[in-house]
Amino acid sequence: MTDIVDQATRSRMMSRIRNRDTAPEMAVRRELYRLGIRYRLHNSQLPGRPDIVIGQQRTVIFVHGCYWHRHPGCRMAYTPKSNVEFWLTKLEGNVARDTRNQAMLVEQGWRVIVIWECEVGNRTALRERLAKLPEMRSGADGITS
Ligand SMILES: [Zn+2]
Repeated sequence: MTDIVDQATRSRMMSRIRNRDTAPEMAVRRELYRLGIRYRLHNSQLPGRPDIVIGQQRTVIFVHGCYWHRHPGCRMAYTPKSNVEFWLTKLEGNVARDTRNQAMLVEQGWRVIVIWECEVGNRTALRERLAKLPEMRSGADGITS
């Protein structure tokens, strides 16, 4: 089976899965900073290594790429055109891992917030959502999908 992308492109695409400090993540961090919310980054002690940890509010934030984490109903979460089976298995694995990690975090008393890559574009909405963080109750109701 041939693929539409070459080796270099493929490995670049693969490496993006683990890429930290992505543009959407930086945007979220900027807004938190503006709001005066203190956070830490990429805590590897926690399940799923959350992108942002707000210890004071016992809140973790994942900034998810829509494609890799399969944002439901999002046009960026398109189905790959080649090696379909391989990619779908891989992508479904990502989603299963996300679900597992988020459940573990909630069990440990963390509030889990997922911010999708495509949501970061609307800066006003993002700011409003982050501004509400301190008043939200903790627990599973913070999870969005
Ligand atoms: Zn999306």
